[in-house]
Amino acid sequence: MYIVMLGAPGSGKGTTAKILAKKTNLPHISTGDMFREQIKKDTELGKLANSYISKGQLVPDEVTIHIVEDRLTWEDAQNGVILDGFPRTLEQAKALDEILEKQAKKVDIVPELIISDDVIIDRILHRATCSNKECGAIYNTKFKPPKVEGICDICGSALVTRTDDNRETIQNRLEVYRNNSKDLISYYQEKGILVSIEPEDPTAENASEQVVNKILEIIKRK
Ligand code: AMP
Repeated sequence: MYIVMLGAPGSGKGTTAKILAKKTNLPHISTGDMFREQIKKDTELGKLANSYISKGQLVPDEVTIHIVEDRLTWEDAQNGVILDGFPRTLEQAKALDEILEKQAKKVDIVPELIISDDVIIDRILHRATCSNKECGAIYNTKFKPPKVEGICDICGSALVTRTDDNRETIQNRLEVYRNNSKDLISYYQEKGILVSIEPEDPTAENASEQVVNKILEIIKRK
């Protein structure tokens, strides 16, 4: 099952994708995480990606498509994946279809998370992520704080704030998402695989679990 999670930055798509990956036993592929790893390692790719990410801009399609194409050749990706943050442009969506088609595969379902801008901005400004890559738990210091400030409840590692989670880049990232998502949404709508999901209470602690359950129900019905 090849699942593409759509949703604005801060819509909860990362958290949802992680839970969904655990429940379906499929790998969670986040292009944002892949870039951040390269930035941390200070590779050439990391330096290039950071020059865009730090301004809230998209990394060029050819760079992004290449890293996803490579990741999809891994053994663990052969029965399906949960893509989070990719595709972000129509070109990327078309490239993804071509990559999968070569292996007689296709995108099966595209859940789109719908959350208001107010909630998104509030979430992004209070987002803290576990620095341990294996864990990667995401907290909201307002709605879902860790038991001990700055420390992950699950693995005890330090929590970090993403450098692009600031007021300056948020507006730009939301605008970039809105501009690009229109085409993406119509593209997947026409294919009949888009499913829009609006959590009843996006500030509820278990909002992501509720969204995951909805997605799992839809998958079962397919
Ligand atoms: P995310 O963690 O998905 O919010 O991504 C963080 C940043 O990485 C984005 O604001 C972009 O600058 C970059 N990025 C992640 N995925 C993509 C993509 N599919 N295409 C272009 N840039 C991306």
